[in-house]
Amino acid sequence: MKTYIVGNWKMNQSTNEINNFFSFLNTEKSELSRILSSENKEAWIAPQFIHLSMVRELCTPLAMKVGAQNSSTHEKGAFTGEISSKALKDIGAHFVIIGHSERRSIFKEDYKMLKDKIQLALSFNLKVIFCIGETLQEREEKRAVSVVRTQLEESLRDINKTAFTSEIILAYEPVWAIGTGKNATPDEAQEMHAAIRGIMTNNLGINSEVAILYGGSVTPTNIQELMKQKDINGALVGGASLKAEDYLKLCQAKK
Ligand code: PEP
Repeated sequence: MKTYIVGNWKMNQSTNEINNFFSFLNTEKSELSRILSSENKEAWIAPQFIHLSMVRELCTPLAMKVGAQNSSTHEKGAFTGEISSKALKDIGAHFVIIGHSERRSIFKEDYKMLKDKIQLALSFNLKVIFCIGETLQEREEKRAVSVVRTQLEESLRDINKTAFTSEIILAYEPVWAIGTGKNATPDEAQEMHAAIRGIMTNNLGINSEVAILYGGSVTPTNIQELMKQKDINGALVGGASLKAEDYLKLCQAKK
């Protein structure tokens, strides 16, 4: 199975910063291409919508891929300010992140909205990174697995099973670890990733192996231990993906 290093830039990076980011990666082009080809790894970046075209052009010569941080629940029409899956595909996006905890908590995206977004994105041949994860309170109340199970069941139950082999990637992102500097320990992450695999097989009837990324305060320092875990297939990284030097180090972590 492939390993994925996905940078979620959130609402950060100017055009100047983006140019600097890719200038550095271009100086390391041979190292990056060695990693991507010999280690069966994918290096993906999700910038702000307005930078998608620019980042796509910068990614292509490096064999990296660009994607969006969100997409609309609607296919087209009078939805001022929304961005459709169709427009994302048209502009060359490879993937879209759906269900990030910031979208769930700040923008009140519910299971049904997320399901609609996933279905639309898949129908336009976008790959989907579907995020799940529990809050600190849910973990302390020992409800982490059941919360994640509900998130998976409610948004994925009706999705065509063949999509899971390569079109859908899961990202386990405990909410208490996102942007807090407090990551799940490799054991905690592995335990949940194994539970997620069980849920996919037993509750959703998905028998193919699904890539599951870990996200939540991943850094160049802690990524290696996380990647060594059997059921971790890569990382979804916010803060530490903003600097090219750090991003390259993240890509260098061995599976
Ligand atoms: C994220 O935004 O998906 C994320 C995991 O952020 P950070 O790495 O900054 O915790």
